[in-house]
Amino acid sequence: MVRAEQTALAVVGVMTVLTALILTLIVRDRVWQRRAEQKLHDAEDRLQFALFAGGLGLWELWCDTGRLEVIDRAVAALGYRRGQWRDTVRAVLRRIHRDDRQILRRSWRQMRDGETSRCHDDIRLRAADGRWIWYRVDGRIAERRADGTPVRMIGVLHDISTEKGREESLAYEATHDPLLGLLNRKVFDAACAAPCGPGAPAGMIVFDIDHFKAVNDTYGHAVGDEVLKTVAGRVRSALRAEESGQLFRIGGEEFVLLLPGQGTVAVAAVAERLRQAVGGTPMLAGGHTLRVTASFGVCGSDRIAGGVIRDLFGFADEALYCAKENGRDQVQCHGAPGPREAAGAASRPLPAEPAAGC
Ligand code: GH3
Ligand code: MG
Ligand code: MG
Repeated sequence: MVRAEQTALAVVGVMTVLTALILTLIVRDRVWQRRAEQKLHDAEDRLQFALFAGGLGLWELWCDTGRLEVIDRAVAALGYRRGQWRDTVRAVLRRIHRDDRQILRRSWRQMRDGETSRCHDDIRLRAADGRWIWYRVDGRIAERRADGTPVRMIGVLHDISTEKGREESLAYEATHDPLLGLLNRKVFDAACAAPCGPGAPAGMIVFDIDHFKAVNDTYGHAVGDEVLKTVAGRVRSALRAEESGQLFRIGGEEFVLLLPGQGTVAVAAVAERLRQAVGGTPMLAGGHTLRVTASFGVCGSDRIAGGVIRDLFGFADEALYCAKENGRDQVQCHGAPGPREAAGAASRPLPAEPAAGC
């Protein structure tokens, strides 16, 4: 009997110890689990803060299904509500600028094929209000199968519109004149090396405001600036869309218009239209009504044998000199356009031969 009691006590004792052990293990496991959860939560918190502080949006692409998740904050920054945004590669690519889609596709393809380990591309994404916003997309393969095929890519996107805006305005300032917004002398000098002639037809008009120094001397420099703006505005308005691409300010009151694909007769007709637009009606500047005219020199690539744009400029400039010598406010062509050409090209008869002294 005593022996049975002793055995029972021993069993109870063992059971108690075991229960205590199990309970301790369970409690320790819970504590560890809670600690692990806390660590995970802290890591998530730190990641979210880093993404937020760095202005970064997270994206994750599952290669098999084409699911592409973009962090809510990035979607919201573009002005979309969750229901307006679909998490598929197709839907997201549709929101990327047509010119940039290929860039991203190529990077993803290169990462998939192991040609490169990461992507680093600048793309434009369309915001909900229709604006294009520049983003830099960085990414890498996060997971591959044993055979090397990618399972998942991850990356971040970063709004770089301020940086791009600065780049664009620096590029604009480097290539445009600040007063009139026309292409500047530097761009013109670079264009001068391009070939022209029968193989690459181009026409050129060089024009210069008449007696502009007198405007400055009489009314002051500020009025002169206003006159320059009005002249540039009148020239722009007189040009058709297909003609207006290459208008340069190459000096103070000296301009060049480069017309692709036009011979001298057609170019002279454009120049005559501009002459009338500039000087046809008086202009108001600084409260003064002024009659401002300009003189025009024209040369088409049909009048030169090959060469480069600089040669065309040399001839058009000579023709401008003739227009000045002949009394200003007129169009002169390089070479001698036939009388029928001249009648069709300009309202004022152009000389059959270059003017005396030109
Ligand atoms: P021409 O008919 O022979 O062309 O005579 P012009 O007086 O127009 O030519 P000139 O070369 O003697 O004078 C050009 C003047 O243009 C001198 C210069 O001070 C002025 N000018 C150059 N750039 C600017 C500018 O940005 N603003 C103003 N207001 N004047 C300028
Ligand atoms: Mg002048
Ligand atoms: Mg001049």
